Amino acid sequence: MTRSEKKRIVVIDGPSGAGKSTVGQRLARRLGYFYLDTGALYRCVALAADQKGLRPAGCKPDDSKKLFQFVKSCKIRFKRRKSRQGAVSQQVFLNGKDVTKHIRTAKISLLASRYSRLPMVRRALRYQQRNFGKKGGMVAEGRDLGTVVFPKAHVKFFMVASVEERARRRYLELKQKFKSVSLKDVRRAIIVRDRADRGRRIAPLKKAKDAIAVDTTALTIDQVVDEMYNHFQRKS
Ligand code: C5P
Repeated sequence: MTRSEKKRIVVIDGPSGAGKSTVGQRLARRLGYFYLDTGALYRCVALAADQKGLRPAGCKPDDSKKLFQFVKSCKIRFKRRKSRQGAVSQQVFLNGKDVTKHIRTAKISLLASRYSRLPMVRRALRYQQRNFGKKGGMVAEGRDLGTVVFPKAHVKFFMVASVEERARRRYLELKQKFKSVSLKDVRRAIIVRDRADRGRRIAPLKKAKDAIAVDTTALTIDQVVDEMYNHFQRKS
């Protein structure tokens, strides 16, 4: 790999459960890049705010400056973890504490979606996301990366899948972490979050004009990663 290839930024946007994290992590590993889960940043902000007793609905416009500073003060770090079976995943640390599991609860998912509507939260996190991407060599996944955060990314993907398939995948993932999940609730939560992500005024979930659409409904993870990797190589 040449030095300039090392510097590239690949973004993957799309709705919840389209498979962005699994595919993003694998693609990053294959390219030797850092993987950034931007949803985890929004989740960490929601968790930090919740622990402080803040409420998104209570954040008035004149609180903007404070909110911006609060988000900026959240120190979020990622660490690669390898299980005994050899599976690689990522640990998330908020202000030095491992919050990998805490940020995945239904409560924090909903709160993250609410905080993500606030302009000051998005602005502060845009700053943090660009910091992560400063040196390049990164695969980042989110909602507005190709349109707002990294408009000049080297390669942009927009991943989609049917609601049924996304609910099934998210359900299987959550069932491993939490015992009491139901497919019906997961499906409903996905629809609510889709609506909120697509309908928000600032940085809505939207395909960038120059992004490549990938429908993962009927594809395996390996097929999707291969398709993206080949596309990256063609563009290089
Ligand atoms: O991707 P994930 O489900 O972990 O994201 C949590 C929430 O953060 C989403 O519901 C979405 O509202 C928000 N988000 C966002 N922009 C991003 C990533 C996530 O608004 N780039």
